[in-house]
Amino acid sequence: MLKSGLLALLSAALLCASTLHTFAEKARSPKASHPDPQNQASQPTDLATFEARQLPSLLVTYKNLHAHPELSHFEVNTSALLADALRKAGYTVTDHVGLYPDGTHAFGVVGLLKNGPGPTLLVRGDMDALPIIEETGVPYASHVLTKNKSGKEVGVMHACGHDIHTTVLIGTARTLAEARKDWHGTLMIIGQPSEETIDGAKAMLADHLYDRFPRPDRIIGLHDTNLHAAGTVGLTAGPAMASSTSIDVTIFGIGGHGSMPNLGRDPISLAALFITEIQTIVSREQDPRDPSVVTVGDIHGGTKRNIIPNEVKLELTSRAFSDKSRQVVIDGLRNMAAGLATSANLPPDKAPKVEVLEAESTPVTFNDPAMAAQVRATLVQPSAPKTYSQTSRSWARKT
Ligand SMILES: [Zn+2]
Repeated sequence: MLKSGLLALLSAALLCASTLHTFAEKARSPKASHPDPQNQASQPTDLATFEARQLPSLLVTYKNLHAHPELSHFEVNTSALLADALRKAGYTVTDHVGLYPDGTHAFGVVGLLKNGPGPTLLVRGDMDALPIIEETGVPYASHVLTKNKSGKEVGVMHACGHDIHTTVLIGTARTLAEARKDWHGTLMIIGQPSEETIDGAKAMLADHLYDRFPRPDRIIGLHDTNLHAAGTVGLTAGPAMASSTSIDVTIFGIGGHGSMPNLGRDPISLAALFITEIQTIVSREQDPRDPSVVTVGDIHGGTKRNIIPNEVKLELTSRAFSDKSRQVVIDGLRNMAAGLATSANLPPDKAPKVEVLEAESTPVTFNDPAMAAQVRATLVQPSAPKTYSQTSRSWARKT
């Protein structure tokens, strides 16, 4: 992860520099776009040398972040570290950007570098870690324990690589500040909080992000991955990551004694039927050319082997690459839940409840094809110190 992370850093810096440079070419006057070879100032900044000089301190930053992860909603020190690094690199920084629905502030960071006329490019990375006990055994492993929202003690680990992303943001910010004579426009670096709980970006928008700061013309984000070899950069045009929809299903029954099931309605056997039946949404309802996934990841019901409970709760996640296939899943779940009530002859007030948790759902990540082509052109330049691979669409999100 470390090696690929540092390569990602180099890639991101180069990628942003190139993108801004392309913007700059459009923004410059015709005269300015033909620099005088005699003029020393017109020589492009030696990014490779600058980045090589930066790597040791960025490695220290990465290990520090990895050893001190912070859960979503609690990115106090991570955001402060990022804000400080951006200020030192010459950016105008605003921290504590973001407002959650409960009125608490988020730890979003916005760093602006205005560098003459031209478009605004937003470079975004996330900062939060996951409630996992680290077992890697690396010297800089996290030993952090904390309490989650329920008061339960949990480990904390940067298992998703957001320590890499924060480091990449710092490296990118420094590199583009160093190379500012090579581009014009506004660079907007965003440290996004609470990606794992998927409410950080929403909190920043709710805090009037695009009223208080420029509305970007383009956005670049990256995520590390273990699906590609170190030294490669993946890129996807169009739908890149599936939408994630969280759904709660409650199956009601009529509780009683296990020896006399005929006197009640057993929600556990109904849940078993339901889980089996919903597999046909993907295999029989969905257009195979526009696939989806439905997974029941959590099931709770009952207290004792001989008692038929009153209800069973299921927690589901669904993935899709289009709004249409997402809706096929939701409709299928509702229809099959209604059918379950009919087949079990349950009274209307005992019909299963299907609840789509919109606040815990995200839409498809769709990469603008034109922008993707521009980035691709950057990555396949002979001078680029990396290889490029076309990345397939990904079902994985963190929710
Ligand atoms: Zn992540």
